[in-house]
Amino acid sequence: MKPDSSVALKKRVALITGGGRGIGAATARLANKKGWSICINYQSRNDSAEKLVDEINESGGSAISVKADISKEADVISLFNTVDKFGKIQALINNAGVIAPQSPLVDVSADRLHKIFNTNIVGSFLCAREAVKRMSTGRDGHGGSIINVSSAAARLGSPHEFIDYAASKGAIDTMTIGLSKEVAEEGIRVNAVRPGLIETEMHLDAGDINRPQKLKKFIPMKKVGSASDVANAIVWLMSDEASYVTGALIDVAGGR
Ligand code: NAP
Repeated sequence: MKPDSSVALKKRVALITGGGRGIGAATARLANKKGWSICINYQSRNDSAEKLVDEINESGGSAISVKADISKEADVISLFNTVDKFGKIQALINNAGVIAPQSPLVDVSADRLHKIFNTNIVGSFLCAREAVKRMSTGRDGHGGSIINVSSAAARLGSPHEFIDYAASKGAIDTMTIGLSKEVAEEGIRVNAVRPGLIETEMHLDAGDINRPQKLKKFIPMKKVGSASDVANAIVWLMSDEASYVTGALIDVAGGR
């Protein structure tokens, strides 16, 4: 279903990268309930992104989907130009991310490193750059909020599994701290959530869809998290209730 663009222009617009499924989709559903207009970015799974857009528009909300590979600068620029036509961006959720099958560092290829770092780090930086250009009160923007989806892996290091993925999330934590200070006087808050073991398809790409259940015994709360658990923290950070929160790294990991 086509969104009514006059509705989007009145509402606050949130861009969710990788918003078609998993944590991004749960965030889109909750943000829609809280009155946000949503731009759902996806890379290849247009089926799930389109289905979610229809669901939101049929519920009386306003959503569009935009295909873009966030690791490519031209795609990111075109994505933000499309968002500009939809409405004024007030929240960026830097959620898109990739992992790779469990492996010790000695077996890791340069191709794998480039894919993880280009998506998780370069992609998130490029999206943050374009968001700051539009939100900054120093550049005719109205302010806004950036939420980076990091990982508990950033502090655990993920030995024998994916040190590269963990390191990419460490970079995201550092970007969150630095950028939050850089743009604090420009009306932009920058925060991160660090999910622990969350039940999504990402674990299939990590080589074992049952990984969260197998590691459950190491979680102090003894339960695996859901995409909605993470969405609750993200949507709170987007809200005015979090208006004095910036530079925060919020663990959503059941105590792990
Ligand atoms: P997911 O279900 O595998 O979803 C990943 C999303 O990222 C998909 O929507 C995918 O798009 C998108 N994506 C991947 N590469 C992209 C690219 N180059 N350009 C644009 N979009 C791209 O995973 P998830 O668990 O929801 O993960 C969301 C975020 O949470 C990630 O940053 C992940 O690192 C983080 N996280 C997850 C967990 C966990 O346990 N699940 C824990 C800690 C952190 P398509 O749908 O088009 O493929």
